[in-house]
Order: sequence, then structure tokens, then C-alpha cells
Amino acid sequence: MSVADIIDGRAVSQRLRAAIAADVARLDEAPGLATILVGDDPASAVYVASKRKACAEAGITSVHHPLPAATQLPELLGLIDELNADPCVSGILCQLPLPAHLDAAVVIERIDPDKDVDGLTVANAGRLALGQPGLRPCTPAGVMDLLAEAGAELRGGEAVVIGRSNLFGKPMAQMLLAADATVTCCHRYTRALNEQCARADVLIAAVGQPGLVRGTWIKPGATVIDVGINRTDDGLVGDVEFEAAAEIAGAITPVPGGVGPMTIACLLRNTLISASRTQRAREAA
Ligand code: NAD
Repeated sequence: MSVADIIDGRAVSQRLRAAIAADVARLDEAPGLATILVGDDPASAVYVASKRKACAEAGITSVHHPLPAATQLPELLGLIDELNADPCVSGILCQLPLPAHLDAAVVIERIDPDKDVDGLTVANAGRLALGQPGLRPCTPAGVMDLLAEAGAELRGGEAVVIGRSNLFGKPMAQMLLAADATVTCCHRYTRALNEQCARADVLIAAVGQPGLVRGTWIKPGATVIDVGINRTDDGLVGDVEFEAAAEIAGAITPVPGGVGPMTIACLLRNTLISASRTQRAREAA
């Protein structure tokens, strides 16, 4: 029997998207999101299409730049330079992964940090680490919204993040630290993961391994956020043994319908933030 509250990421993201649409409507000019997709990976094409659809619903103009898989680095960097210079472009999203011959770190780094709506440039990672305003990575930013929705007490609480990727784990740990939690960041070499989890008032799993986090590892009443997306014969599942965890946690996100919907909403929010800053700069000039 489940005792945990189920954190409804779809509902939270819908509310956020409605609020973003209202703010977008108040801007002088519609924000513009440029999307870049290199190659024809079907999953990436689906992701980009759903991001563009969400833009349209929020009143954000999106312009798509599909490039052939054989595109060479200078051509891609040239496109990013053009978009950096284009005043109609508030945000630039280069869908990852890129084909193996393109160095994603070099490509991402070319994006103007103020248009880096994925929050992945060195400048934005540094701003986050130093507590300065900047564009934050979308998935961990969405998790912060879900934690607020669940009423999780972060100040002084024990937060455990499993996973240390640049995309999620590291920025997540920084955001929790900024919210005054005591943060432990676990990874593939962490010993006794179960003991780390057992201390967590807030437990966040982002590994990509179904059932890695056992229900028995969870501290009674903890808030559990499952970021993992794993396609199995039983459909889409997260990294947490959901049924068992829901019997002991205080609140838990489902997969699907938890973290996933928040990522796109936060991309829209970052595009709005960028467009609002441009408008303020124009007004001040
Ligand atoms: P990644 O592969 O870059 O990182 C995985 C991390 O897990 C690494 O830091 C690694 O050290 C750690 N790890 C691996 N095995 C482990 C183990 N046995 N014990 C503890 N840690 C272990 O992945 P990522 O990009 O951070 O994504 C992680 C998961 O989150 C994936 O399933 C991905 O699909 C999902 N994800 C979901 C969203 C979303 O919008 N919902 C966004 C980003 C990532």
C-alpha cells in the first residue's frame, strides 16, 4: 500500500507553462528559440519536436535548423555565431547527443552564455557555482520546483544526489547547496550506496539503471525524486523501485509524469528569462 504523496510533474509543469505564457504575452516582442539538430536520430527529433510544440503553446517563436549528420565543426560553429548575433534569437538549443565526430563541449561553449537556455556553458556552470544569476540547467531547475511543490524542507536537510553528470548531478548538487541543504553527491565509485541513501531527507536518483535504488534504502518520510529514464519490456521506468519506495517515502515522483515534463517547462522559462533581460536592456539604453 502506497503511503507517499505522488508528486504530479505534469500538473506542476502545466501550471508553470501557463504562467510562462502569460509573462510572454506581456513582452513587447515574442521570445525566439533557435533549435539545432545535427543528424537524424529519431529520439532526438522527437525531443526537439516536443520542445518546439511547447514553445508554440507558450507564444515563443521557434526556428529549427536541421543539419545533415556529416556536418563539420566549422559549419556548426558558424551557425551558432549567426544565432548569437541575431537579436530575434533569445535562446539557442543544440540537441545532444551530437554525432561522434563533433565535440559537444566545443559546440556548447560557442553559445553566448546569455542565450544558453540549456545552462551548460562554462560561464553558466560558474555562475551557478558562485551563486550569481544565470541560466540554470533545465532538469535540475525543474527538480527544485518539484521539491518546492512537495514542501520539502531543504535548509539543514540531508540531500543525496546519485549521479554526477555535468547535465544533471553536478548542477543539482549546487542548487541544493544554494538552498542550504547538506549535500552528498554519489556516483559509480561510491561505497555502500544504501547507507548514503538511508540518511537522505531528499533523495534524487539520476543514473539510468532501473531499480538501482531499493525501497528498503529509503528513510521513512523522505522526498524521493526519480530522474532516471529507462526503457524496459515493462515500459518506461525510473531508477527507483517505485512500489516499494512509495510505501516508505513521504513523497515520490512517478516515471513517467514526474521530472520529465518539468524539463521542457524550464527550457521555456529560460527562454523567457533571456528575452526579458534583452527587453530590459533595450529599455535602459
Ligand atoms: P550520465 O550517464 O551522464 O551519468 C550517470 C551517473 O550515474 C554518473 O555520474 C555515474 O557515476 C553514476 N552511476 C552509474 N552507475 C552507478 C551506480 N551503480 N551507483 C551510483 N552511481 C552510478 O547520465 P545523465 O545524463 O546524468 O542522466 C542520468 C539519468 O537521468 C538517465 O536515465 C537519463 O535518461 C535521465 N535524465 C532524465 C532527464 C529528464 O528530463 N527527465 C534529463 C536528464 C537525464
